[in-house]
Amino acid sequence: MSDSNPVTRDLFDEVMVPNYSPSKVIPVRGKGSRIWDQQDNEYIDFAGGIAVNCLGHCHPALVKALTEQGQKLWHLSNTMTNEPALRLAKKMVDATFADKVYFANSGGESNEAALKLARRWALDNYGEEKSHIIAFKQGFHGRTFFTVTVGGQPAYSDGFGPKPGDVFHAEYNNLDSLKALISNETCAVVMEPLQGEGGIIEPTDEFVKGVRQLCDENNALLIFDEVQTGVGRLGSLYAYMDLGVTPDILTTAKALGGGFPIGAMITTTDIAKHLKIGTHGSTYGGNPLACAVAEAAFDTVNDEAVLAGVKAKAELFAMLLKDINDKHNIFEEIRGKGLLIGAALKEEYKGKAKEILLAAMNEGLMILIAGMNVVRFAPSLVIPEEDIRSGMALFEKAVAKIVNG
Ligand SMILES: *Cc1c(COP(=O)(O)O)cnc(C)c1O
Repeated sequence: MSDSNPVTRDLFDEVMVPNYSPSKVIPVRGKGSRIWDQQDNEYIDFAGGIAVNCLGHCHPALVKALTEQGQKLWHLSNTMTNEPALRLAKKMVDATFADKVYFANSGGESNEAALKLARRWALDNYGEEKSHIIAFKQGFHGRTFFTVTVGGQPAYSDGFGPKPGDVFHAEYNNLDSLKALISNETCAVVMEPLQGEGGIIEPTDEFVKGVRQLCDENNALLIFDEVQTGVGRLGSLYAYMDLGVTPDILTTAKALGGGFPIGAMITTTDIAKHLKIGTHGSTYGGNPLACAVAEAAFDTVNDEAVLAGVKAKAELFAMLLKDINDKHNIFEEIRGKGLLIGAALKEEYKGKAKEILLAAMNEGLMILIAGMNVVRFAPSLVIPEEDIRSGMALFEKAVAKIVNG
C-alpha cells in the first residue's frame, strides 16, 4: 500500500480479525497525558492504555532507555542472559518480598507461569491430588486458555472446547464462599488485590487477611495478580504493600514496561526452585529492549514523591468526580484506590457506561469502562493537575449530555 492511500478505520474491518471493535479515532502521537489523532484533534488521556502508560506517552526517561538500548542490543533468546534483565530483576527483588523473577511478555503469560508453578510446586511437595485452583467470580487473569478459565467470567472462557480442570470460583469479599471450596487439595488461591476488569472492587481488610489465613491453614499458595494494580497504580509500588498481607507469588505486567510489552512473575526461592531447567520458558521473555524500558519505568515510579503524587492526584480526581455527581446525580458510588478509579452508574443509567465513553471521546477525553455499569479511569501516574482539571471539565460536558438526553 502506498503512502498516498490513507490508513482509515475502514481498513480495520477489511484486514483485521474481528475480535475487537476499536474507536473510529486513530491516534498517531502522544505526549504526557495528551494524544492527537490523524486529523490533529487533541485528547486528554484518562485511559492510559488500560493502566499501562503509567508515565503517560513518550516520557523522556523511557524514550531515552528505548533509544539507547535500541542502538545496542535488541534480542538474544534465553540461551543467554542480558544486562537489562538482570538489573531489572535485581531491582524488583530489592523492592519486594520476592527473591526470584521470571520474565514474560504480558499479564496473561505471567499468570500462566504462576499457575503452572503452583501446580508443579504442589505436585512435587504433596502429590497429584493437590491440584485445585481457586479464583474469584468477576476476576480477570488474561486470555490464554488456562488463565481465562481461572478468570471468573464464563462468557470469556466458554466456547473453546474442554477447559483445563480443577478450577473453582468463590465470591470476592466473601470468606464463607472460599471456606466452602478450599481444602488440602487446593494448591493455590488466585486473586486481584482490587478487581479491575470486574468493576473496580476493593477487597475488605478482613477478606484479604482471611484469604491469607485460609491458604496457610490448607497449605495453599496465595497468588496476587497485580497485573493492573502493580507499579504504583494504587499509590504503593505494589498493592500488597498497603494491605498487610504478603502473597507467595505475584504477577505484574501492564504498567511494568510503561507501554512496552513485558510481564513478570515473582516469588520466593523456595517456591521458584520447582520451575527447574526446561520446565517453562518463553522466546521473548526478558528481552533486553523490554527490560531496559521497564527498568527506566520501574526506577521512575519507585520513588517516594511519585507514589505520594499518585495519592494526591487521586484525591483531586475523587473531589472533582464528586462535584460532577453533586450536579448531575448519575453515579451511585465513586470507588477504587489511587489512580484506578471506578464510577458506578445509578440504577436509571445502568448499561450506559459505553455511551458515556463515546460522549467523552466526542468532547476530547479518553476514558475506560469496566463492564456496562462502571466508568473507569486509569490515567498516567504523573498526570499534571492542569490536565486532570481540564479532563474533568470535558467529562462533565459528556455526563451532562447523557443526563439531559
Ligand atoms: C489486563 C490484565 C491481565 C491480562 O494481561 P494481558 O497483558 O492482557 O495478558 C491479567 N490480569 C489482570 C488483573 C489484568 O488487569
